[in-house]
Amino acid sequence: MANHFSQLAKKSRGVIPDLKVDKNSKNSNLEIFKLGDEVLRKNSQRISKVDNSIRNLAKDMLQSMYAAKGIGLAAPQIGIHKELLVIDINFEDSAAEPLILINPEITAYGSTLNSYEEGCLSIPGVYLNVIRPSTIKLKFRDEMGRPRKMKADGLLARCIQHEMDHLNGVLFVDRVSSVEDLKTELAKEGFNQKDVNPIN
Ligand SMILES: [Zn+2]
Repeated sequence: MANHFSQLAKKSRGVIPDLKVDKNSKNSNLEIFKLGDEVLRKNSQRISKVDNSIRNLAKDMLQSMYAAKGIGLAAPQIGIHKELLVIDINFEDSAAEPLILINPEITAYGSTLNSYEEGCLSIPGVYLNVIRPSTIKLKFRDEMGRPRKMKADGLLARCIQHEMDHLNGVLFVDRVSSVEDLKTELAKEGFNQKDVNPIN
């Protein structure tokens, strides 16, 4: 998810030191695929073993996310179809820990919906309102393979849902209800509306 906005509380968990990434680094060796590439439309596979290759991948993804000034990145966005997400809604706070979510599953949605503007590193420059549940509960594995549970609300809940959609080949533009806004915003950035797969 792109960081058009930044707010909200941090979630500190203590990421292992090997995964520490300089948030100001501009170095990234990963290509982020863009709307229109079929790579973004494939389903991802669960990760059966959380080992060093997964941790290294998470670190590379964090670097790419920070270099691109994003607040979330899903493995399929770099062409890897594994259920791995990295998120950091506090990218401006160098001490805040990023979240690494492996095999995330939403176990409950709150009853309230809200509408908020989203962006995506795979659709740069495009920002549109999307309606989603405002709170979620989820379970996942952390970078050591340990099972975890958490509740999220606000921007974090939104970002997790956005990134989890990527694991199912869904992009936020698929969920935009205003066809007119979608058309205008995509055209402005040179994207093709035919590459959107509306969900409703
Ligand atoms: Zn995205």
